Amino acid sequence: MSDLHHLSVAQLADGLKNQQFSSVELTDHFLKRINKLDEKINSFITVDEEGARQAAKAADEKRSAGDTSALLGLPMAHKDLFCTKGLLTTSGSKMLHNFVSPYDATIVSNIREAGAVCLGKLNMDEFAMGSDNESSYYGAVHNPWDTSRVPGGSSGGSAAAVAAGFVPFATGSDTGGSIRQPASFCGLTGMKPTYGSVSRFGMIAYASSLDQAGTFGRSAEDCAYLLQPMTGHDPRDATSIKREVPDYIADMHSAVKKADTDKPFAGLRIGVAKEYFGQGLDTEVDSNVRNALKQYEDLGATIVEVNITDPAITLATYYMLAPAEASSNLSRFDGVRFGYRCEEPKDLADLYTRSRSEGFGDEVQRRILMGTYALSAGYYDAYYTKAQKVRRLILEDFKKAFDKCDVIASPTAPTAAYKLDTALDPVTMYLGDVYTIGVNLAGLPAISMPAGFTESGLPVGLQLIGNHWDDSKLLSTAHIFQQHTDYHTKLSATAQESI
Ligand code: GLN
Repeated sequence: MSDLHHLSVAQLADGLKNQQFSSVELTDHFLKRINKLDEKINSFITVDEEGARQAAKAADEKRSAGDTSALLGLPMAHKDLFCTKGLLTTSGSKMLHNFVSPYDATIVSNIREAGAVCLGKLNMDEFAMGSDNESSYYGAVHNPWDTSRVPGGSSGGSAAAVAAGFVPFATGSDTGGSIRQPASFCGLTGMKPTYGSVSRFGMIAYASSLDQAGTFGRSAEDCAYLLQPMTGHDPRDATSIKREVPDYIADMHSAVKKADTDKPFAGLRIGVAKEYFGQGLDTEVDSNVRNALKQYEDLGATIVEVNITDPAITLATYYMLAPAEASSNLSRFDGVRFGYRCEEPKDLADLYTRSRSEGFGDEVQRRILMGTYALSAGYYDAYYTKAQKVRRLILEDFKKAFDKCDVIASPTAPTAAYKLDTALDPVTMYLGDVYTIGVNLAGLPAISMPAGFTESGLPVGLQLIGNHWDDSKLLSTAHIFQQHTDYHTKLSATAQESI
């Protein structure tokens, strides 16, 4: 029982079904690990022991009564930007340090209805802006592979919690890479679905045209289990698309069955773009990713050369549009209706000004300033409208690439996890998003999965990008690779610690 956190989601679900352990026991196991080990990781902002125990008990009772829901009794946790009724939702900010949402995000209620047990809320960069989880009001998160390093961001708490063996899977959000990059830094699989496939209702907005909820797990299969109840149309999100929802796990199993045993990827064309292997790419990351691509080839895939937009252009476009949307979205935090309010305001202007400058951290203020500038009357066309036009061209370049291939492969990030407190200047930090942001600008699905290790034992991630609505195909493409390799089975130092 002491190694329950080493099991996959499918194994945990089987164990519950076959009564090898109850949900109460499973929940207890993970809560104990959090209580004992999260002190040095700092992945949770809120641990809801009481709520979790109650939900676990209810799940056990439902199972005795014949309920067979896929996630029944399985522990999980949410990134702290998904609203949870009755539980703190901070978005990693002082601005929301006291905010208890009166309603649940759609994905929160969907996951609960599927039977999962929520253990709490996970640390993140403030308002999901960042790539190292150092901008959280609740302190930096430490990487469970090496606690002197960052876990990536902005969903750093989600990645660290799964990698540390505190929950089998977790939710995250990805506006420019915030699921894929921390998955890569923490040796996990992370899935960012097609824009519009998962509801954004109740997810605190950063940049609405780019934000998308997704999942972290140790494998693509683990991610698929949690993504299933999250996917589907929601009338409360105007960008949510009405479409038939695939059965991810069934699709994976049938893809495995259909595949040739020696050459399971026969017929799969993997696009490789030189733009994704350019300047700034760490040599160890480069060689690990190329080695993983060679393994895909050995398993039958064909590599084809494709071109995508120059990442320098994509980066500039993203860092124009995302702050512009953020400046508008974050205007609702004014100290009046909810969240932080400054002490003894002199008048209304003072209330707004001080609440916002005391409540928001530096990076958030920097982006509000940049975004407001880009949207101001004299500059709107020169910056915002122009960036929107470039965004369209980036999408068209991806479309052209997908005429030649089924998936596009690249490193997820230019480096492995770096040291905490290396005080990256903002622009250097933004450069770390160079391989992930194009996907969000184009609304595409993408996955990051473990594909090797540096000499010092840090995980390296491979990113696979799919065409719109190829989410299921993408999960299967990662799943079959994971059936033939063992990168995803390696455990972080913290996950190897028993209690
Ligand atoms: N690192 C990127 C940013 O800071 C992406 C963040 C995200 O995906 N939420 O904007």
